[in-house]
Amino acid sequence: MNTPTSLKVDLINDCNERCSFCPYYGAEGRVINEGLRLIPKTVLDLPLLTRLFEDVQGVVRRIKFSGQGEASLHPQFREIIALAHSMGFDLKLITNGTTLKRNAADVQAHVRDVSVSIHGVGEVHDQIVGLRGAFDKAMTGLDLLREGEGALEEVRMVFVITATNLDQISSIMALSKEKGIPVIFYLDFLPGLHAPMPLDRFRQTIEEIRSAGFTVSPNLPVEELARFMSPGSYVLQPHDCDHVEKELEIDSNGDVYVCRSEIMGNLHQESMRSIIEGTTRRRFLTVIEQETHSECGLDKKLCDRCCYQHPLLK
Ligand code: SF4
Ligand code: SF4
Repeated sequence: MNTPTSLKVDLINDCNERCSFCPYYGAEGRVINEGLRLIPKTVLDLPLLTRLFEDVQGVVRRIKFSGQGEASLHPQFREIIALAHSMGFDLKLITNGTTLKRNAADVQAHVRDVSVSIHGVGEVHDQIVGLRGAFDKAMTGLDLLREGEGALEEVRMVFVITATNLDQISSIMALSKEKGIPVIFYLDFLPGLHAPMPLDRFRQTIEEIRSAGFTVSPNLPVEELARFMSPGSYVLQPHDCDHVEKELEIDSNGDVYVCRSEIMGNLHQESMRSIIEGTTRRRFLTVIEQETHSECGLDKKLCDRCCYQHPLLK
């Protein structure tokens, strides 16, 4: 049986930002569309997480805290990362950085790899994420993570390129150089839903990013990237997907799934080991294996611009 080595854990389905491109809290996001008040707020509690960590200890190596909310808003965030670290897991955090001022020391002590979302400079970032003061908080947090005896080495900014923040890219590259903090540029995962990208300007911007020595993800020739940002579905690697075997995702309500699978089980009802070995997971892995070996490859609609095909997000 293919056993996952990584878990992506949504500690909480809530966020203090409203990033314009966010698939959950953005203008076209699922949470907003379904009605913010209709989706109950859920958090994974410490007893459940303790059982989970004990269950997968020695099998799963890495835990990523990210997903459909801002993990650090969980009321026991610090206890959770301390527990997971003490049990030997390699921790990765993707955060909007707004809580780092109060959490930086704990993050330094327990998390190895931190990505902080920055999508513009100053008020432009604040406007994109819908929260005044967000940029200053995130920058303070980034500084704190890199200070003192526990200074983290794996800290970076992540910037999502959309049609509305192309003019911010040169400033972000300058900021990155000034502060010595790397930045990775990702493409908008849902370009079809957002303002159309001016493709000539986009191509020119990608060339500028690369000639300045920065990374664009996915790392493809510029014409392929232009195709990615154009209407129509796009599967990066139609005949290859090992993500489904290597990782499982846990919703803040306890549901376990991976990418476009159905729910494989719920941690409030059964153990992770039993879900890993269960028939729903096995069936899904078989479907994906068949698709990758078929002539057309992975389903174009369901795997459209899948973020797990970006090597940097794996
Ligand atoms: S910080 Fe993340 S979860 Fe929150 S709105 Fe932005 S993209 Fe969505
Ligand atoms: S959505 Fe498709 S490409 Fe992405 S992880 Fe799932 S099967 Fe793989």
